[in-house]
Amino acid sequence: MLYSLSKYRFLLLLFIALLLQSCGGLQNALTKKSNIIEAHIDLTSVANDQLEIELNPGPFPKGEVTFYMPSVIPGTYEYSNFGRFVSDVKAFDKNNQPLEVVRNETNTWTIANGKKLDRITYTVDDTFDGDEGSDVYPMGGTKIEKDEVFLLNLHGMVGYFKGGKEWAYHVTIDSPSDLVPFSSMERISHTATQDVFRAGRYFNIIDDPILYTNDDSVSFSLEDIEVNFAVYSPTGTHKAADFKETLEEMMQAQKRFLGDANATKSYDILLLLMTMEELQHYGGMQGALEHHTSTTVVFYEGIDAESLKEYLVDVVSHEFFHTLTPLNVHSEQVHYFNYNEGVMSQHLWMYEGTTEYFANLFQIQQGLIDEANFYSRMSEKISRSKRYDDTLPFTEMSTNIVDEPYADNYGNVYQKGALINMCLDIIIREQSGGARGFLDVMQALAKKYGVATPFTDSELFDEIVAMTYPEVGTFFNTYVQGKTPIPYTTFLEKAGITISDTDQKLPSIIMTTPQQPFIAPQPNEAGTMDLVVTGLNNRLSEIGFQEGDVLRVFNGAEIPALTQENMGALNMLFGVSFDWKPDQEVTFEVARAGTPKTLRGTVGVAVAPAKGITAMDNATPTQIALRNAWLYGK
Ligand SMILES: [Zn+2]
Repeated sequence: MLYSLSKYRFLLLLFIALLLQSCGGLQNALTKKSNIIEAHIDLTSVANDQLEIELNPGPFPKGEVTFYMPSVIPGTYEYSNFGRFVSDVKAFDKNNQPLEVVRNETNTWTIANGKKLDRITYTVDDTFDGDEGSDVYPMGGTKIEKDEVFLLNLHGMVGYFKGGKEWAYHVTIDSPSDLVPFSSMERISHTATQDVFRAGRYFNIIDDPILYTNDDSVSFSLEDIEVNFAVYSPTGTHKAADFKETLEEMMQAQKRFLGDANATKSYDILLLLMTMEELQHYGGMQGALEHHTSTTVVFYEGIDAESLKEYLVDVVSHEFFHTLTPLNVHSEQVHYFNYNEGVMSQHLWMYEGTTEYFANLFQIQQGLIDEANFYSRMSEKISRSKRYDDTLPFTEMSTNIVDEPYADNYGNVYQKGALINMCLDIIIREQSGGARGFLDVMQALAKKYGVATPFTDSELFDEIVAMTYPEVGTFFNTYVQGKTPIPYTTFLEKAGITISDTDQKLPSIIMTTPQQPFIAPQPNEAGTMDLVVTGLNNRLSEIGFQEGDVLRVFNGAEIPALTQENMGALNMLFGVSFDWKPDQEVTFEVARAGTPKTLRGTVGVAVAPAKGITAMDNATPTQIALRNAWLYGK
């Protein structure tokens, strides 16, 4: 997954705290022979954003039957407890007589007499509104909007039976005739008002989300991979065709970079754009979730087309590289995923780190970005990684990622996780005289394991060392399994690159670091809250702001009262500054020690001091050769 912290989130964080849920236990044991479960969902009968689900497993040979909704799903690394959205579970025998159902905990129900069971029915709520849904990632969530759009991340709707994770499902969906399904799930039949899909096992219920929407989509092919891109835009602002060229160019480059390590036949990109209300419901969360042959992407609809293109390139390239890992290279913990207990692999440095690193490296290797851009991405990752616990071994964090304090460090998989891979790449290039890089290692692992065969979690490091060099083993021991922070300078110097002090361009004039706005809410004497200036950057100082100023008017707009209800208005007010152009004139009003003051100036280019990565002027031919091998694969 790429959990993208976009501009709107920084602001919302001022006002919102997200809650995490915990989860109950798990029961086990097999009770029934393999079977096909008939699932039925009727999208034409929606009430209060709820749907009725029917699952028909047929009778069980004997004993009690346990029904589960998943608690954890692959790629999210946190508890979602989808049982919370299920109510009114009923069980029936084949004469349509009710059987007793007991809810054991949030995600588990039992039916005492399995021999009599014919089918169960229940009501599901979506995650896009209501109190419970806001802590589920929207890209893994469910949206039920009558006659308009349905995001069917089916793990939020269809559960599984004890012992039945490997059973196949036939999912019959009745739909309004003007909505079209987009999905990589195998489709058995299709009419204007009914589709029947087949999931080979419960895994596919999770791995193949379905988006029912108006028919706004484009397709293109990458040699032998057919790519489909479907968009739902609530007001119709964004169209699939606007993004086709950008996505096609980017994915062609990815395919060239990956070589034959990708055996996918088709790939679906499902983009659902959110309203401001939904963005707020999710606390500003936007991003994407990876699947074997598709990805679900959610962004705020109010983002302008150019910025949305940039976000799509970063997010979709990351998700598409997940087809390498974990999809083609993963451990037993991922393959036999435990949907109701967090049993995690120690290799997040690879699942997320390698993916994120390649999503940057391919851009320079394929000529989409230049060296300076690549260096600034890596230096930003170094700066951001320092905001997490740099002494926490990555393997320990990974194994425990669903629990605190490890969960708080999850974001570092995109920062330090990528940097771990950068260092490994440099080591392997150095040791092989430039001939091999970390991509070669991953291609070899994908060839050996592939989709169907997991590796043993505890043996991966030894296997990679055996394929490469002892220096790689020392690196894993010291910096991935060990507590020692990585001395980046040591590794970058090998490639004639140095880390020095520099200026970093900020995403908006209102930010003092890439994450920190210049204002914060503080209580005042009247017992309400003010927005007080708590930090400055070069442009804010130039315009005349001082720390302690109380912001009253922001470029012509009065600051509303700082209440929960006004969050959307505040968000919009500050959000527009991210799109301001450098030559734009802006005006503000502040209260300084009680006295009103008007401040004026141009937006300019706001910067913050940062660590910059640059090529050394006096690099030796050996260093330059290693740098070229690393950055360009030659
Ligand atoms: Zn990811």
